[in-house]
Amino acid sequence: MAKIIFFQPHPDDLELFCGHIMHYLAKKSKKKHILKIASLTKGEFGLPGPEYDKFKGELLARVRTHELFAAQSMHEIPPENITFFNYIDGFVPFNREIINKVTGYLRIESPDVIFAPEPIYTGYYHMDHINCGRVVYYIIHKGLIEDFTPNLFFYTSLCPNYFFGFDEKEFDLTYQLLACHKTQNWFFNNLKMILKPQMRYYGTKIHGWKYAEAFRRVYFTKKNLEKNKPSFVPRVFSHFFSSLPWYKAKYPAHLLEKVKVMERARKNVSL
Ligand SMILES: [Zn+2]
Repeated sequence: MAKIIFFQPHPDDLELFCGHIMHYLAKKSKKKHILKIASLTKGEFGLPGPEYDKFKGELLARVRTHELFAAQSMHEIPPENITFFNYIDGFVPFNREIINKVTGYLRIESPDVIFAPEPIYTGYYHMDHINCGRVVYYIIHKGLIEDFTPNLFFYTSLCPNYFFGFDEKEFDLTYQLLACHKTQNWFFNNLKMILKPQMRYYGTKIHGWKYAEAFRRVYFTKKNLEKNKPSFVPRVFSHFFSSLPWYKAKYPAHLLEKVKVMERARKNVSL
């Protein structure tokens, strides 16, 4: 039995990139694993266009929280296993405050395995994702928690080294999970076009499976550090992509006003 924590910046990230491995670990594996989710935001600004501005903020946060609960119920992960860190969508920081908060959480939970978004060789250029992965990596790399050596896996990595395979008939699970996030259809419609071919490509990386989800296992012990270096092609790709501007939230003034109000309201909310 292992305790496994999945970090995500927004409520739908795990359904996009970790749905199959979560389903296996939560429901199919003979070992009784404990799965928990750490969601840094509630995705409260995740709608396109100014015509949706009136829904953005606390209302969308509430809706997306329930969408997440619905998706996770498919893995039988109950709402009490999901912790929200109350950062605001688009504004996940990388600073002492978030490091302390996540360190406190991990110290209490003491997981054996952690999944988080890839912050270094990333294929997903959103600041919330980068900072989420950076925080988790920093805490383990700097040894901020004594005797804490969890296995760390990054999703959305440009240089995956671990693949979780599944069959054609199981692929539908991805769509069923995504269907729980009804507010995100506008976003998924584009993403679905690359999601399936990408999983099919990853499936070619392991024997015996048609599709796969891909992860980069990160090594921290000295003798394994070499394994963290990607091969030439992903290194060149990462170098090229890392020179592109990251996606950073640029909200219009009236939404920034909403952000300020929400930040004030959440300031004293402890985990
Ligand atoms: Zn996201």
